[in-house]
Amino acid sequence: MIKTKLKTTQTNKISMRNVKLNIIKDDSNHTNIPSNITNIITPTPTMVLDTYVKTKKWLIDHVHRNYFPRNPEFKILYDLLDRHPSKLEWKNQNPISFKISRSPGTGSLVMYVRFEGLNKYRIVSWVACSKGKLAKHQQSNNPDNKLNGAMRYAVRIQVSNYKKSHHTQTCVLCQSTHRIEVDHHPLHFVDIKQGFLKMKTSKGDLPPDKFKWHPKRGNFMFRDGTKADNYYDKKWKQSWQRYHKKHATYRYLCSTCNKKTNQSIATQIISDNSK
Ligand SMILES: [Zn+2]
Repeated sequence: MIKTKLKTTQTNKISMRNVKLNIIKDDSNHTNIPSNITNIITPTPTMVLDTYVKTKKWLIDHVHRNYFPRNPEFKILYDLLDRHPSKLEWKNQNPISFKISRSPGTGSLVMYVRFEGLNKYRIVSWVACSKGKLAKHQQSNNPDNKLNGAMRYAVRIQVSNYKKSHHTQTCVLCQSTHRIEVDHHPLHFVDIKQGFLKMKTSKGDLPPDKFKWHPKRGNFMFRDGTKADNYYDKKWKQSWQRYHKKHATYRYLCSTCNKKTNQSIATQIISDNSK
């Protein structure tokens, strides 16, 4: 069966109806099928990268290349980009070229996009595009998730410093050397966060409730900079960074063991809450 994607505009419906009528009329002579019908039944490239697995495979096959509107791949990437869940919030939405690359550090696939009106390439999460949704920690609009995202973002450099000073990346649980992630251990990130929030709240230093969204990184961040009214947020962030640095220790886990550990933490939290 040929899959087709049709715009549901009235004009298209009407023209489809006409085409159908033409086909019925010309049933005895197929060569008379109007030429525009081939445009209608050609599968649109939107179908090409509609799952994570397909997208990843396609990107691997097309890595280390640039794509411009003259390349047939451009349309495929254009449609992929179009699926990004927060695209409507972007200032610049019109891509003029794509670059598929690999991250020098982790080797993971990276999609760079140059938008009309900007002279730099930006990273856009192809995972979010392929799944049509943001990662879990970015999904919800609720302030707790924003705060959590900003708190994680604020200590990213500390985590990457750990990686820089610990070169042998082996999972401490299963000795795998593939897809190694940094795990907060023995104190979980959530424990350190709760400890800090408790300490701050007891002093009346409530966490910031407004954040800035960083579309390039796909993350919420604390507001800071020179604006006087964001000074509180900046101080709060710095205080969190110091606290985290003092309390956080890490270990390496492979992504499979890390997921298992996270699941058991989640179950623990749920059962704690239900007490
Ligand atoms: Zn492991």
